[in-house]
Amino acid sequence: MKIAFIGLGNMGGGMAANLVKAGHEVRAFDLSEAALAAAREAGCVTFGTAKEACQGVEAVVSMLPNGAIVRQVYWDDVIGHAPEGAILLDCSTIDVATAREVISVTEAHGYQMVDAPVSGGIAAAAGGTLTFMVGGSDEAFARAKPILDAMGKAVIHAGAAGNGQAAKICNNMLLAIHMIGTCEAFAMAQKLGLDPQTFYDISSVSSGQNWSMTSYCPVPGVGPKTPADNDYQGGFAAGLMLKDLKLAMEAASAAGAKVELGDHARAIYEAFAKDNAATDFSGIIRTL
Ligand code: NAD
Repeated sequence: MKIAFIGLGNMGGGMAANLVKAGHEVRAFDLSEAALAAAREAGCVTFGTAKEACQGVEAVVSMLPNGAIVRQVYWDDVIGHAPEGAILLDCSTIDVATAREVISVTEAHGYQMVDAPVSGGIAAAAGGTLTFMVGGSDEAFARAKPILDAMGKAVIHAGAAGNGQAAKICNNMLLAIHMIGTCEAFAMAQKLGLDPQTFYDISSVSSGQNWSMTSYCPVPGVGPKTPADNDYQGGFAAGLMLKDLKLAMEAASAAGAKVELGDHARAIYEAFAKDNAATDFSGIIRTL
């Protein structure tokens, strides 16, 4: 299949390479020359503009920093340039309202579109093991799924347009809350004289067990190997967690949802990310 890929950064670079590996003809565009060079190495054909990359394609995939850029790219470079009837897939993490607006406008121009944000970081993007949460009509989902299958290990239909973004920010709000809670519990256990490994052995098989503890333990040397064992480098940057929490708070406010812990988590990550935006989000334990 001929696929345009727009946004070849940390995530998009690996995703585009996996589409090439799956046998697709990938027409790639990014503003960065270095990203274009890496995409060529991976077997993509690169173009000087997104409009050119969109010529004659059956699908467009985008992986961009935020909603304003997604809107601008679809308005200026995709609508009227990708052939009518193409399936459009935005995999960026953006606000629910913009995702719904972009889908509604592109569909009014004769395209089908899904929002398909991901769970999993740079390693999962490179390894083709992302999880996609997809919002859009049944028909758009059925067309998008084989393309997403080439880049991920799980592709889940979350319902109507924008529901992929809704699932993503609700999940990450919960993740932020249980990571902070897990860090607080480990820090307090230690202050009370409990060895972290002993606390892990007890809590990981008790009612406090959660993913932040048993899959992403914030304490070095305890549980599976995690960014804590690498001085909190790699993994999921605190700055990106803060971005997702801000999107979650915007969506909560628009929907009238009460999210007291989510808002508190946002404030905690906002303070942490000031000097630690590139640090893994489990590094929050260092502030306790
Ligand atoms: P990144 O900054 O590495 O990549 C974004 C790319 O978009 C850059 O190469 C940039 O040059 C390009 N770009 C910006 N404006 C453009 C335009 N107008 N036209 C074409 N290209 C343009 O970011 P990333 O880490 O790859 O993240 C991409 C998206 O994935 C974000 O929405 C992020 O929230 C989401 N995400 C990231 C991670 C992660 O671990 N990095 C995990 C899950 C989701």
